[in-house]
Amino acid sequence: MVIEAKKEGYWNRVSVNKIFIEEANPIEPKVTVLIPMYEPLELTKCEKCGKIIAEPKELIRIQKRKFSVY
Ligand SMILES: [Zn+2]
Repeated sequence: MVIEAKKEGYWNRVSVNKIFIEEANPIEPKVTVLIPMYEPLELTKCEKCGKIIAEPKELIRIQKRKFSVY
């Protein structure tokens, strides 16, 4: 799938796989929370300035209904 990811003020299209990361629940430690994250499939550079905005080892997470590089 393709999402819009923001870094340094610009939105760029990034090809990703959706995955879930387990995170401990601070209120109830016995319950783990699954956080949806996006794993970039390839090195993606900003369309405007050419800087790297996503790479396979760097996961992206949802923030406030939009996406940002994590
Ligand atoms: Zn840029």
